[in-house]
Amino acid sequence: MVPETNAGGEIQQSYFKLLFKIMGNNFNRTEVLSQILREMKNHLTPMDAAVYYYEEYEHAFKLIDEDLQKESSIYKSPIFNRSIEKDSLFNAETVLAEGSDSTEMKSLHFTIDNAEEFQFVFSYSDKVPTEAYFEIVKRETSSLLHMISRFYTKKSNSWHCHELFELSKQILTANDMTTILTELSHVLRKNYTDISYCFLLSQDVEVSPALPVESLDYNQESLNSLSTKAFLTGELQIENMPEIKTTYIYAPLKGKQGIYGVLEINVPLVVYYPKMEKQFLVELTNLAGKAIEAATMFQRSKHQVSDLTLINKTSHLLNSNLDLLEIVSLVKSQILSTCQAAEIGFITINEGGQEVLSGSSTFFHTVDGRIFMNHLLERTNRCTEPLFCGDILEQDEIISDRFRSVMAFPVMKGGKVLGIVIVLHQESYRFTFDQFKLIQAIIFHSALAMANTILKDQLKKAVVTDYMTGLFTRNYLEGKVKEHMAKGDQGALILFDIDDFKQINDKYGHYMGDQVITQVADTLSNNIGADNISARWGGEEMAIYAPEMSLEEGCALAEKVSRQVQLVTDPSVTLSSGVSAWVRGDGKEMLTLYLHSDKALYEAKNNGKNQVKKN
Ligand code: GH3
Ligand code: MG
Ligand code: MG
Repeated sequence: MVPETNAGGEIQQSYFKLLFKIMGNNFNRTEVLSQILREMKNHLTPMDAAVYYYEEYEHAFKLIDEDLQKESSIYKSPIFNRSIEKDSLFNAETVLAEGSDSTEMKSLHFTIDNAEEFQFVFSYSDKVPTEAYFEIVKRETSSLLHMISRFYTKKSNSWHCHELFELSKQILTANDMTTILTELSHVLRKNYTDISYCFLLSQDVEVSPALPVESLDYNQESLNSLSTKAFLTGELQIENMPEIKTTYIYAPLKGKQGIYGVLEINVPLVVYYPKMEKQFLVELTNLAGKAIEAATMFQRSKHQVSDLTLINKTSHLLNSNLDLLEIVSLVKSQILSTCQAAEIGFITINEGGQEVLSGSSTFFHTVDGRIFMNHLLERTNRCTEPLFCGDILEQDEIISDRFRSVMAFPVMKGGKVLGIVIVLHQESYRFTFDQFKLIQAIIFHSALAMANTILKDQLKKAVVTDYMTGLFTRNYLEGKVKEHMAKGDQGALILFDIDDFKQINDKYGHYMGDQVITQVADTLSNNIGADNISARWGGEEMAIYAPEMSLEEGCALAEKVSRQVQLVTDPSVTLSSGVSAWVRGDGKEMLTLYLHSDKALYEAKNNGKNQVKKN
């Protein structure tokens, strides 16, 4: 101890040395306090000394001794009580343990930055320094503690800036969640050895299973939980749980446009985190939030680009004049590549009912499949919205327990339902909403092509058939004759004319006349065999072309048909027929063949009608 007049300067000198020592070393809090205590002991010369820190959650001052004993035993702690209640006086009675030799107690209290509180205690058996001296020591120690605190704050701030800068370099350019969360984990583990943590994410994302990730439960029950509060308010939440000696911190992962989850940190209560660490945590999680946002947007746009590419490719293919089966196969393969469905069905609706298009899975031709199909068609009649169902068993209307994931898309054109596409899987919740939207877009784009193809098929048929009789047109038959004459060996052309048809019209009227023409046409169709083609030549004249038939065979066919016509028509009519034929190398063309048959028909008429003539 020095004379009190010089005391201030002496203490200042020793504290400056200590301050530089602390600045040059990487001491932890306990080590710093032990160094200060050692210095105070030099000045205050007690028998024993110790330092307590205030533990907020236990409402008590706790003795810092265990760690100190390990490193350097600068005082004999067993003579001090380990814990002193908040409002107790720091005197010999409360502080000194039983059996202490000391008789006097002095204590100095310090509060640093309104956050940390310390009590330095000194025991004496005799020669206690004066109050004035204690005051000087207190003043100097207080300014030392403040300087140390400022030094640590600055050091920690610049360290945090460095950490944030390094982290931002790593994660702001990363496009996947695993990288972002792994880097954030590194920083957390490096800075806080005693914590455990977990990422509570609001969206389903695929990340490495090594990461502590859980989904953020966000429902009515969890509305009051702090994780939900952090998620909803975007503000850091802290909860102390003294019973389990843990502090829970919830830091929202906040981007510019939204909050993507919450970082939950569990800190043991005994570990003290200054207030500025909270700011660091907020900045850390905000940075992570921004990185997640950028990655999410990147992934989303990547998805959208690939979806658009697929739709574009599909549209392109659909424009390339495909027939219905080809369209169905194309759309089916696109659906399969999008969602790995188990069964896909294409059903069209027309006046005659519904039809399962070829290319659909076989399931739709089974009884179960039909039940499924009818149920969904019925639903489509009620509402034309597409159906996206994760588990059909959870719905009121149970159709089948074989398939649980169900998607159904009405195919529309001009506000009319043309059909329905059904996509199924045995497992529940197998399809994602993104897949549903993509398939919807594919079907929307293919609906026009499907409808046009169906119409085109109908039109093609209409062009080559006579609407009244359903027979082919003369034009079509002539085309077929020419086609066959170019590649076949022989063929016969029969022309028919109904005898005295004017009289039928006169006697029964034109409507009946039409019926008779139709009866004759049906008789032709039913009696000519699969290889031969019949056509309405014009008016009440009809024709048959029989590929690979000789003249005689042609005549026999004409006889057979004529007999049948006479039998089945009502009122009964007879036919006059002219038959001619060609064989390879005879030089006949379509026109000569026709003129020959026509001439034969003329002869049949002139010869008394109801007969077959050949030429
Ligand atoms: P034939 O051939 O035996 O010499 O006597 P025809 O009475 O049949 O005489 P023609 O072939 O000259 O007359 C055919 C008639 O058939 C003329 C026309 O009014 C009638 N006709 C032609 N097409 C139709 C049709 O689509 N419906 C009806 N009801 N009559 C038709
Ligand atoms: Mg005629
Ligand atoms: Mg006639």
